[in-house]
Amino acid sequence: MQIPFVDLKAQYQRIKPEIDAAIEEIITNTAFIGGKAVAGFEAAFAAYTGAPHCVGVGNGTDAIEIALRALGVGPGDEVIVPANTFIATSEGVTWSGARVVFADCEPSHYGLDPADFERRITPRTKAVMPVHLYGHPAEMDAIMAIARAHNLLVIEDTSQAHGALYKGRMVGSFGDAATYSFYPGKNLGAYGDAGAITFRDAKAAEWARAFRDHGSLVKYQHIMEGRNSRLDGIQAAVLSVKLRHLESWSSERRRVAAAYDSLLAGIDGVATPAVAEHAVPVYHLYVVRVADRENLQKELAARGVATSIHYPTALPFTEAYSYLGDAQCGDFPVACAQMGTLLSLPMYPELTREMIAHVADSLREAIAATATIQ
Ligand SMILES: *Cc1c(COP(=O)(O)O)cnc(C)c1O
Repeated sequence: MQIPFVDLKAQYQRIKPEIDAAIEEIITNTAFIGGKAVAGFEAAFAAYTGAPHCVGVGNGTDAIEIALRALGVGPGDEVIVPANTFIATSEGVTWSGARVVFADCEPSHYGLDPADFERRITPRTKAVMPVHLYGHPAEMDAIMAIARAHNLLVIEDTSQAHGALYKGRMVGSFGDAATYSFYPGKNLGAYGDAGAITFRDAKAAEWARAFRDHGSLVKYQHIMEGRNSRLDGIQAAVLSVKLRHLESWSSERRRVAAAYDSLLAGIDGVATPAVAEHAVPVYHLYVVRVADRENLQKELAARGVATSIHYPTALPFTEAYSYLGDAQCGDFPVACAQMGTLLSLPMYPELTREMIAHVADSLREAIAATATIQ
């Protein structure tokens, strides 16, 4: 049995008539840029997340940069981001003009560690960007309390957690803004690059709306130099169709996770993802911790099970951030200890019971096989 890591073809087959009709309508009306489909998706996504304002942009990385700029973050400011996340989180900070400051992750749910975040605050700190990593909410109560006490902006990177709940409230609704990626493999994915920002403040939203389109809200009336980072019509139409399915897909992801949890519970040497009592995660990824990861991956691949690693190197230890100084393991002990053990198993709504069982059986066999090698 072959189990791909993600399977966007299977998802397309489930919704093909709706998607095809939506794309055809955009082409028939040549509504490629802007127009009703984009405004319609922005309104629908604002309603879904409960945010007062939603601005569609070209991708999730631009969303981070533009959100920070719209809230007045720029040169001279520091922005605190977690050590274990996709590099887009910190790239967005750098391209806003601000300086990246990493903080360690908390050990059980991989999010920003509130205590280490607080330790990294300096007089130049302007904002913090918690990431709801793998679809599990970050520790928002503690993060918000620290941020408020130090007068910091909070921008939630929600690219992996569309619709996840923290104490019954949707992530992305806690901070001053939230950024979303709709990269095809995300829980809500377009058929190309796309992203969005939700804002609490109307003025910041309007600034971002102008900035994403060459600094203009009305064509050729440039109130500033902006950028081309628009959400296009076809992507907006695809996203509107998929948004209607998102809640049921998230439930299916939780069903897959629950099945993995029980099948893997008895396997020595596999730590399954912990879920905070107050959290309803959406499992963008199902990440276990194992020893001897590279050999396990090979054994799994030999059994037809594709896996991935998120992320092989925590950001402070990558070449891209060597300019911040030579990071030592002791600077980010949790991220450093975990990065060699993280293993992402296949996770998507279309996984069947048989497929999940095959992954679990393969993992049991792979662990036995790698133990014999040693
Ligand atoms: C995917 C992702 C992004 C960036 O999204 P793109 O649309 O690929 O630019 C940002 N942050 C996190 C945590 C992500 O997973």
